[in-house]
Amino acid sequence: MCRHVAWLGEPRSLASLVLEPPASLLVQSYAPRRQRHGTVNADGWGTGWWAPGRAEPARWRSATPLWGSASFASVAPAVSSSCVLAAVRSATVGMPVDESAAAPFTDGRWLLSHNGRVDRAVLPPAAAVAAESVCDSAQLAALVFATGLDALGEVVRDVGGRDPAARLNLLAADGTRLLATTWGDTLSVLETPQGTVLASEPFDDDPRWTDVPDRHLVTVTAHGTTLESLS
Ligand code: GLN
Repeated sequence: MCRHVAWLGEPRSLASLVLEPPASLLVQSYAPRRQRHGTVNADGWGTGWWAPGRAEPARWRSATPLWGSASFASVAPAVSSSCVLAAVRSATVGMPVDESAAAPFTDGRWLLSHNGRVDRAVLPPAAAVAAESVCDSAQLAALVFATGLDALGEVVRDVGGRDPAARLNLLAADGTRLLATTWGDTLSVLETPQGTVLASEPFDDDPRWTDVPDRHLVTVTAHGTTLESLS
């Protein structure tokens, strides 16, 4: 399955979050350490970030492996943001492999990544109409956007109830807030004086990383990080 990472805090370069750490998302695209489903994340990647003074995020996605993007490697050290979300993808069997199926998905204000899978039959038909792609994650994102991010935990609980085999690790950002759920896969938090990282797995050996228990909702704001049980 996919791996994702997000940052909220002092401005930092995309490279310092996505490319440079010893077990960065780039390394996780070919050698993830904690991935439970799939072995490599070579079916595309995406990142989104907020530029100063802009309410809407910028987004760069691709259907090719992150390790092959020399252009991103060149630009990423030169772009900094206080809120960044990025993902690498291992496509679920049967899902399209094109740019529109790569996270993060957006409604113009929020960015959202899904690490997992869900039976599209349990999602409302309106989600399929609104989605950026027929991919299960895009349809789940459309449902979350339509319901509102304040109800993220309720949506995950509801969808998880209707598809017991679903894995629903979601990661969302709106420039001032990060939200994440654990539902079947791993997630870790790193809180530092400069800001907070949420990541599918730790990207370095910093002893401050903590693991989020399964079936939880994590909220990160400038005021701190909270954890809420979803069971
Ligand atoms: N189901 C999603 C897809 O096909 C996400 C897959 C994943 O988490 N690896 O893209």
